[in-house]
Amino acid sequence: MNSALHPSIELLAELVRRPSVTPDDAGCQELLAERLEVLGFACEQMNFGEVTNLWARRGHSGPVFCFAGHTDVVPPGPLEDWLTAPFEPVIHEGNMFGRGTADMKSGLAAMIVALEEFLLEHPDHPGSITLLITSDEEGRARDGTLKVIEVLQNRDEQIDWCVLGEPSSQSVLGDTVRIGRRGSLSGMLSVRGIQGHVAYPQLADNPIRRFAPILSELHEIRWDEGNEFFPPTSFQVVDLKAGVGFPNVTPGELSARFNFRYSTEWDHEKLMARVEDIFNAYEIDYELDWHLSGEPFLTREGQLTEAVVKAVTEYCGNGPELSTGGGTSDGRFISPSGADVVELGPVNASIHKVNEHVRLDDVVALTSMYRRTLELLLL
Ligand SMILES: [Zn+2]
Repeated sequence: MNSALHPSIELLAELVRRPSVTPDDAGCQELLAERLEVLGFACEQMNFGEVTNLWARRGHSGPVFCFAGHTDVVPPGPLEDWLTAPFEPVIHEGNMFGRGTADMKSGLAAMIVALEEFLLEHPDHPGSITLLITSDEEGRARDGTLKVIEVLQNRDEQIDWCVLGEPSSQSVLGDTVRIGRRGSLSGMLSVRGIQGHVAYPQLADNPIRRFAPILSELHEIRWDEGNEFFPPTSFQVVDLKAGVGFPNVTPGELSARFNFRYSTEWDHEKLMARVEDIFNAYEIDYELDWHLSGEPFLTREGQLTEAVVKAVTEYCGNGPELSTGGGTSDGRFISPSGADVVELGPVNASIHKVNEHVRLDDVVALTSMYRRTLELLLL
């Protein structure tokens, strides 16, 4: 690496060199903690199972600001599809290539350097600054942010404002800031029937026939119209299995899996009850297990949103779109603790793909936006 590079780009390169495929942190958090300790942060490792988490704090009073993120990355996929080695950062035409450059090691590097710049000028700022970093965002996410928040709640440590460094931007840096996410609820269904000869349907009970009208009803329902911040709730079937593989045998069992991405017009209990009411209106022998990935959350107007929007507008010239789109993020675990959560990070066009990359100028600008956000909130 060229020694004249901006410090956040140098730190990004150091992070990309550590092949931290979920849940392996590969030493990334140690590197971050070393930099934070120099700045006066108390760094706590909170490990659960194979997952490495870092909670760092500087200051004892409120309000409590938090930078949150993850060091883990998704696997690179077929190496022959990459133009460069995924864990060897390569700079080409103003971009850095490598797994994790966009999701989300540039966010982490920008946070650390923003803190270094901010604390050099304002070592005695009011309030506290914290970081919540996990190595299990891309995986099952059970031993990461969720567990750290549990520990913090048990000892009455509260986060007031959280900036998550996930790649929120769509085509240019700062065009989109996420102020919430949809909820995600999955249903695992099994329907019991009686297997039989296709020629003697009166002696069998075909579970496909039992489930078909319910499935069609679930598809036809308009769950809600969405609202100012959320698109309408969507129901999708992701898996459907039945049949024994013989043309003259009707099946005795059916299994299906479906998912709701839902707005703040619902909570998971209301949604589950509505679906079960529909099933119970039919004659069907079924079992339905539910898995909640996260309730929807929304951070309304307030100091945090205002500060982030102002910081972005100052550096981009345009105000960002405030959105709740995309998949889930660890914001779903932080928001229920009472914190306001906003996501601001680089362009997400190449995340999880081969040849993932980030614009170097964006990493530098993101560092400034984070530093400015700190100034607006804490000074
Ligand atoms: Zn991410």
